[in-house]
Amino acid sequence: MQFYSTNNHLLKSELKEAVLNGLAADKGLFMPESIPVLSPKFWQDLPHMSLGEIGFETLKHFFCPDIPEPLFKTLTAEAFNFPIPLVPVSNDLSALELFHGPTLAFKDVGARFLARVMAYFTQQTTKDIHVLVATSGDTGSAVANGFLGVKGVKVFVLYPKGLVSEVQEKQFTTLGQNITAIEVDGTFDDCQRLVKTAFMDDALKRDMTLTSANSINLARFLPQMVYYFYGYAQAVKQGHENCMMSVPSGNFGNLTAGLIARQMGLPVKRFIAATNSNAIVPNYLQTGSYEPAPSIATPANAMDVGDPSNFVRIQELFKHQLASVQAAIDGLAVDNAHIFSTISEVFADYNYVLDPHGAIAYYALTQQKEPDTHGIFLATAHPAKFPETVEKMIDQTVEQPARLKSFMNGTKQVQSTSAQYDDLVSVLRSGSTE
Ligand SMILES: *Cc1c(COP(=O)(O)O)cnc(C)c1O
Repeated sequence: MQFYSTNNHLLKSELKEAVLNGLAADKGLFMPESIPVLSPKFWQDLPHMSLGEIGFETLKHFFCPDIPEPLFKTLTAEAFNFPIPLVPVSNDLSALELFHGPTLAFKDVGARFLARVMAYFTQQTTKDIHVLVATSGDTGSAVANGFLGVKGVKVFVLYPKGLVSEVQEKQFTTLGQNITAIEVDGTFDDCQRLVKTAFMDDALKRDMTLTSANSINLARFLPQMVYYFYGYAQAVKQGHENCMMSVPSGNFGNLTAGLIARQMGLPVKRFIAATNSNAIVPNYLQTGSYEPAPSIATPANAMDVGDPSNFVRIQELFKHQLASVQAAIDGLAVDNAHIFSTISEVFADYNYVLDPHGAIAYYALTQQKEPDTHGIFLATAHPAKFPETVEKMIDQTVEQPARLKSFMNGTKQVQSTSAQYDDLVSVLRSGSTE
């Protein structure tokens, strides 16, 4: 399959080029030129399929034969190797727990897949590839861990100094090897801007092969469709045919994947785009006008995004028709007070511990779920990643999984830079000379 640029539908690239470049030559985002509709046989088999098998059967339409099918089967089995259970919380709401991977957040899904796809394509080149990624918390750790030790790939993680939690920071600053953490004196939007500027810097690109691992990379967001199918299959087994799904959203890669799954035939009537106080998309759904704004810091910091990079992909999927977008997506912005009260109440009522991101999706469902549907909210991070917020709300400690403890014992190693682009370039150039 070829992938077109959101800036120009006639500008198409092959998979390899799209994955390794991240952005199209005209700076647009890549979109699949067509979206396949899954066969009746797929739906028949779905209840018996593992996550890895679902990954293979749904993603092969986009990634094969560029990656040969037998290899791709192994790749998907290795990438999607951790459990994603649908856990009932109340009678009509369930959590799709996406946080059982190596860094305890859903970004492990996309990052593990992307690292393997890139490793496949870089085997065919001799030059090192430099992966540049901006993180507001969870992307950095998922990408760094996904790529750790992958030959021929060097990873630079840019993050806003002092604006990620200690647990998050430890997960990408303690790894060493081919991973360099860069602390930026600025916000997440600054980090994102720096990364985008680097991708447009022809002089830098002459010296270094740069690529992105943010959800602008199609091999990061597309694999996320896998758990929508898997979650739906589990819901049906638990007696819930008619579902709504609530997606805690920041850059909207996750929701975009769900919408693509829906176009491939996933029978989910509507999605809820649940945001924190960065209400750009809920406002758009209400007013029809898209007005990016500087990001606001919230306890759900992985969603502190003021200009979601995948918004344009959502518009593409619906051919820029507001009414079609509104028919598929409801939106709700949840303020901090409701994040806090939801964590306390759900623990008190159901003995279930939410993280701040999952709490947003949960609350949005309680407000917007249609009466005859079962609500599935995406629980995107393990609550132990946000002890500062969660423990205060449930009035007890959250047990740290062993995986987190071992990160906490590591030593932090970082490079620092201002939010000035030239400073970043010096760090990149010095980091790439070894
Ligand atoms: C990144 C992230 C989100 C937002 O996902 P997008 O694809 O950027 O919308 C939500 N929750 C957590 C825990 C995250 O790390």
